[in-house]
Amino acid sequence: MRKDWKITILTPEFYTYGSMVIGGVLGDAGYSVALHKGFQNIPKSDVIFISLQSTIHLLKYRDPILKLPGYKILGGPVTHVPELALELLPVDMVLQGEGEVTVLKIMEELESTFQGNSTPKMKSENDLELVEKNPKIVKGTSSSLIRPIPLIPDDIGSESIRGANVYIETHRGCPGNCGFCQVPCFFGRKVRSRPAADIINEVRTFMEKGTQRIAISGGTGSLYGSPKFNQVDEQAFGSLLKEISNLTSPPNLTIPDIRVDMINDDILDSIRKYTNKWVYFGIESGSEKVLKHMKKGINLDEVRSAVESARKYGLKIAGSFIVAYPGEEEEDFQDTLDFADELMLDDYFISIAEPLPGTDLKDKIKQIPSDENALFIPGEKYKKYGLSVAEERALEFMLESYVYRSLPQPMTANLFKALLDEVKAQGKHIRTVTSLLIGCNSYK
Ligand code: SF4
Repeated sequence: MRKDWKITILTPEFYTYGSMVIGGVLGDAGYSVALHKGFQNIPKSDVIFISLQSTIHLLKYRDPILKLPGYKILGGPVTHVPELALELLPVDMVLQGEGEVTVLKIMEELESTFQGNSTPKMKSENDLELVEKNPKIVKGTSSSLIRPIPLIPDDIGSESIRGANVYIETHRGCPGNCGFCQVPCFFGRKVRSRPAADIINEVRTFMEKGTQRIAISGGTGSLYGSPKFNQVDEQAFGSLLKEISNLTSPPNLTIPDIRVDMINDDILDSIRKYTNKWVYFGIESGSEKVLKHMKKGINLDEVRSAVESARKYGLKIAGSFIVAYPGEEEEDFQDTLDFADELMLDDYFISIAEPLPGTDLKDKIKQIPSDENALFIPGEKYKKYGLSVAEERALEFMLESYVYRSLPQPMTANLFKALLDEVKAQGKHIRTVTSLLIGCNSYK
């Protein structure tokens, strides 16, 4: 092992949990490894692992990444279509999928072929599974999820990812089949859970390093410990939450996403007792037809019933919704507004449908000509803002959501501007991603 090699794990915007995990694996194996956020003052490195979350990062950070010295290996969700990632960002290697096991094999390979050059080289591919026989694309091996403690940066306490310092993984995989989601494509539909003792130990270490607010993640949260396909284990879930909240205190523990059909009284009671008392349901649409297009596997009555049950336990309820999904007509959108009005949630998260690599949504959008794609059709309702139909729906829903909530908020000029900016940013981002993935013309 070349302990004199310097390895950097680079994340452009925030310390991703995956990058900390890979750092922990490499550090545990004896490598000298550092985590680095952003492109300023990057330490001199022989090997750089770059973790990118979004397809758009392939364009946004292309120039600074190409200028980095050292052997560059790309990982993270952008590797789901590795050929595209490599085409847009010609790094030395793309590591697709789960990296904990494969990252050590890659290092061994680099070492075995090192000839005293200043930069390591990959010359053969013993033991590495290649994608499409491309020596630059290595497929990650599924991990047992038993692994060393992550490499935690000293400033982790100043991170804020949707309010949490860190999202800690409790399990991987989701039996759901939602057409817009990368979780089942990336991790499969079978749930693999980490040992509770490992998670608790990790939470304790994060807190010793200054973490205060923790969110737990893993597809749909209540599936931790799931014994069988589509089944929850309320005891495993409840006892995990209890032990984590003993360390964090309940107000500092969040469980972000839950399916409306993966709850029961014990699960809701555990969320009430051990977390900040918020539950986040993926509702997505108020149209049964669109829910079917999304392959969401839930219906509106299940949503109604979940919301009613969560209220019984005194929980605050947030719902996430997606607008302009392929097949959503104006009347479906109106049904969604009506449904939001009926539910009167405590908060709403509204997004325009974004085609992510590897998803059914991406394939669906690929089949739609751009002049029939709501993101590329000029809207009529808010003409003076130059929005597409998709952006107009997102804006209208966001505006209405301040009326349809348990505690309505007045619409001020500043709030309106913030919402308008948000839909424009979403629209621009998704148009760029769509153009990259499927070659649509840009909406003018
Ligand atoms: S239930 Fe959630 S995690 Fe599972 S596939 Fe659907 S959106 Fe993804």
